[in-house]
Amino acid sequence: KLASRQYHPESTVIRVGDIEIGGGEPVIIAGPCAVESREQILEAAHQVKAAGAHMLRGGAFKPRSSPYSFQGLAEEGLKLLAEARRQTGLKIVSEVMDPINLPMVCEYVDVLQVGARNMQNFHLLKEIGKTNKPVLLKRGMSATIEEWLMSAEYILSAGNPNVILCERGIRTFEPYTRNTLDLNAVPVVKDLSHLPVIVDPSHGIGIAKYVPAMSLAALAAGADGLIIEVHPRPEEAVSDGKQSLNPAMFRELMSQIRPRSRML
Ligand code: PEP
Ligand code: MN
Repeated sequence: KLASRQYHPESTVIRVGDIEIGGGEPVIIAGPCAVESREQILEAAHQVKAAGAHMLRGGAFKPRSSPYSFQGLAEEGLKLLAEARRQTGLKIVSEVMDPINLPMVCEYVDVLQVGARNMQNFHLLKEIGKTNKPVLLKRGMSATIEEWLMSAEYILSAGNPNVILCERGIRTFEPYTRNTLDLNAVPVVKDLSHLPVIVDPSHGIGIAKYVPAMSLAALAAGADGLIIEVHPRPEEAVSDGKQSLNPAMFRELMSQIRPRSRML
């Protein structure tokens, strides 16, 4: 299998501009769940940049459980992300949900995100495989490690070698937290595969005050980076406010990560 370490013994390093994912130093991606407005995304971008993040996240296409919830600003949101990149130099990570929008999303972002709900959207994976954009492939909320790696295989086998795996928590019987962050997956996948693995502690636990502990735990487990939701005013967020760090919490977390890294 193309994703396996047997096939490719050396760890893959994925370059996004001058950022290396899987190069031994943790890469930090931060920003709001959704792009909500010009003011919100620019404010968030400057805040996470000042705290030391390498890349900015923000959804322009949102996979919401209810069709009545905010669905994202679509191309307008992508334009705002591009403006945030011009102002801060941060690389952009944003979700693509449908092959129809893939060429448009590719024009604006540096890293494509495939969400948990689309991990087995095989048509989307094949189309992404025909591009050479780096892609952050989230683990499905009920996917086994084997199924997750087979989804990576769809992208790799279609010709795109730039796959980053993202553990974001799985559904278990435990209702206190939103998901159960499966940190077991980090050393297991690093052993099975040469691909870089990053962790999303925000969706993984779903409660902001617990995100710093799980961020540090993910790095201790060997993750190549983190993707963390940060909002200028989490209480006003249109999505995932409960799990979003405010800028002060993110700064504090970054000060704890920094001594463990030469890149920050
Ligand atoms: C997100 O990153 O905001 C998101 C929708 O994540 P997931 O696909 O992991 O639920
Ligand atoms: Mn979210």
